[in-house]
Amino acid sequence: MYKVGITGGIGSGKTTVCKVFEVLGIPVFYADTVAKEIMHKDILLVAGIKSAFGKESYSDDGKLNNKYIAGIVFNDEKALAKLNALVHPAVFRAFDAWEKTIPENVPYTLKEAALLFESGSYKMCDTTILVTAPYEIKLARVMQRDGVSAEQVKARMDKQFSDEEKSKLANHFIVNDEQQSIIGQVLTLHQQFLNAAEALKPDNV
Ligand code: ATP
Repeated sequence: MYKVGITGGIGSGKTTVCKVFEVLGIPVFYADTVAKEIMHKDILLVAGIKSAFGKESYSDDGKLNNKYIAGIVFNDEKALAKLNALVHPAVFRAFDAWEKTIPENVPYTLKEAALLFESGSYKMCDTTILVTAPYEIKLARVMQRDGVSAEQVKARMDKQFSDEEKSKLANHFIVNDEQQSIIGQVLTLHQQFLNAAEALKPDNV
């Protein structure tokens, strides 16, 4: 099935854009939400995290000890890379399993991931969308949504590729600057993806 990856910096509005695609009937795989779920559920992943970071990584009732893990990886790039090397393949496995549940008459799917480019998962997509918004707007949105300080948002932003770096890898763009209509931009891309998915069908190849 034709796969579209969608990403954007923190607060760019990628989830908001995905909701518009969902209204059009396009199933969306929210990789970051799934990643949080499989931290407790994927047996291989749980074993890998315990082995890498110690048994304290999980509480007695099997829940990930977020504070403990965040304390280790937040300022240690090597530890973060180690964690990502465990989590990303587990998310890929979850995506493959999810895709198998999608009915054949669905024209294409969307995979939303904050680290689509950083994780390399864009390579498994047929095309990609980058959602962008001006820096000040992103900052204000996240501060308001999460009730956090500008410094905390900036610290999170620093962990991601810049829009400039992401732009080099993206095939399509949605500007979510509260000036241009998201719906209009989504409808234009939706038509392009329907055409591309149609062209990929065995009868048309
Ligand atoms: P994150 O990476 O932090 O999960 P995101 O890129 O998925 O962020 P959203 O959660 O979609 O971003 O949007 C961030 C906040 O900004 C939300 O509270 C959302 O309602 C708001 N927002 C997004 N787009 C718009 C818009 N066009 N107009 C007004 N508010 C918006």
